[in-house]
Amino acid sequence: MKAPGRIFFLLGDQLDREGAWRGAIDPGEDLVLFAEVREESVKVPSHKVRTALFLSGMRHFARELEDDGCRVRYVALDDPENTHSLHGELARCIGEHNPREVHLVFPGEHAIREKLHDVVNGSGAGLHEHEDRHFFSTPDEFARWAEGRKQLRMEYFYRERRKATGYLMEGTEPAGGKWNYDKENRKSFPKSGPGDLSAPRAFPPDVITMEVLALVEEAFPGHPGDLATFDWPVTPDDARAALDDFIQHRLGAFGDYQDAMWTGEPWLCHSRLSAALNLKLLDPREACEAAIGAHRSGGAPLAAVEGFVRQILGWREYVRGLYWMHMPDYLDLNALGAGNKLPGIYWTGDTEFTCLRESLGQTLRFGYAHHIQRLMVTGLFAMLYGVRPKEIHEWYLAVYVDAVEWVELPNVAGMSQWADGGIMASKPYAATGKYIQRMSNYCRQCPRDPKVRTGDRACPFTTLYWDFLLQHQGTLSRNQRMSLQVRNLQRLSDGEKDEIRSAASALRCSLART
Ligand code: FAD
Ligand code: SF4
Repeated sequence: MKAPGRIFFLLGDQLDREGAWRGAIDPGEDLVLFAEVREESVKVPSHKVRTALFLSGMRHFARELEDDGCRVRYVALDDPENTHSLHGELARCIGEHNPREVHLVFPGEHAIREKLHDVVNGSGAGLHEHEDRHFFSTPDEFARWAEGRKQLRMEYFYRERRKATGYLMEGTEPAGGKWNYDKENRKSFPKSGPGDLSAPRAFPPDVITMEVLALVEEAFPGHPGDLATFDWPVTPDDARAALDDFIQHRLGAFGDYQDAMWTGEPWLCHSRLSAALNLKLLDPREACEAAIGAHRSGGAPLAAVEGFVRQILGWREYVRGLYWMHMPDYLDLNALGAGNKLPGIYWTGDTEFTCLRESLGQTLRFGYAHHIQRLMVTGLFAMLYGVRPKEIHEWYLAVYVDAVEWVELPNVAGMSQWADGGIMASKPYAATGKYIQRMSNYCRQCPRDPKVRTGDRACPFTTLYWDFLLQHQGTLSRNQRMSLQVRNLQRLSDGEKDEIRSAASALRCSLART
């Protein structure tokens, strides 16, 4: 067979069937390269379900391309020649074929992009990088929006995106008269619980996925995750069916209960679409437009649809812009000087604290927790405990099926840990256990009491919250939005402050042993 003049290297989160590269490829001449490499699953110990999802998605796409007449070089995880790094596989392929050009799609991780560029530039082949057209905006557009602004608040970026797309707009005004229905998106369930929620549509493994599950189990036996639970969309058709299922059965309640949590209910009213979006199996336009269509036809209230569109058109695009604007420095930020090791319970879920046991348990089993569990349970606890931001970032990158660095890192280091000192969030999301009590039934089943800060019944969040204010009062008092919280410290006597410090220290010691 004739040597290919061009290699198109597609990564596991670049499974967009309509990507910009598609128009550039000559299927009979060019070579599409896919590589399953160990490095991507071991640089952090990737959840088995996450690894399986990426590999299965790649195998399905490669099969489709071959059926369409494309020349595909597919390097499997158990290929004896595999160098087990993305840059290694690209270098090997270039070495064997000596192409005149290598085509990449803009990668989702800064370090990978650098390494791939180095390989191509060092090979003498021309480098062509396609914009990732999956997104509504490019990193350059974000940088232009950010230029000259003192603060980069998501809300203003989101409004620009609403105007640009015309989503939920009536002329130049937002539909319903308000840009944001966030305040209406914060209900908790009644005492009786969420009631009969329709379970999200499951996608049982087909033959390709079954092969991948066996391979992953064999290759990564010690990694977190229960592969028996695998039911994620792995093709665009599956992803579309998952979207339809969400729009029909859960979008209506998504708005009200976006922030609510309940024992034994990992999915609640959430869409479970993040992994399909991040692997580019689902176009975010299709997701937003389906939700807007449901509102137009009377199938979902405006507050729910605006909430869903805000997450995808607003938050998702905004975090990507921030990531590319601040990398690689963002990885090393540590505004609060946090230096503790991540407690072992994050890898076992074995704890008496119900909120952590539930959130960690479902994460380690399914690779999923919803936003508030990530932000206000596991994230909040890590920040109050003082975990090194890089270590908690690595945990999040490892354990969620939807984890890709461009979206994970700003959410973790910026939103949940305030390691960026306010680039993303105007103040740290610091709270006592009372927030969790308000938004869930967790505290009802916990031996601790969210109102108590020291002693046998003390809630660890409440103890650590007060200790956090004491530790960081210098920094926090300079932040106007924290002033009320910091002022509350003045109501504590010196004796009470000492008690809090020693309770927090005892808690840290006991968790450090887990
Ligand atoms: P839904 O609640 O149904 O929301 C709909 C969609 O909106 C999601 O599918 C997602 O694509 C988007 N979205 C919602 N919130 C955000 C956000 N803050 N940033 C970006 N997109 C958002 N999301 C990831 O995709 N990958 C990650 O690795 C990731 N890590 C996170 C870490 C922390 C500490 C926090 C606080 C959030 C993180 N998020 C991440 C964002 C969010 O928690 C997940 O996108 C969401 O929980 C996925 O579940 P879902 O699809 O059911 O979302
Ligand atoms: Fe979590 Fe504290 Fe509530 Fe227990 S009491 S579930 S530790 S918030």
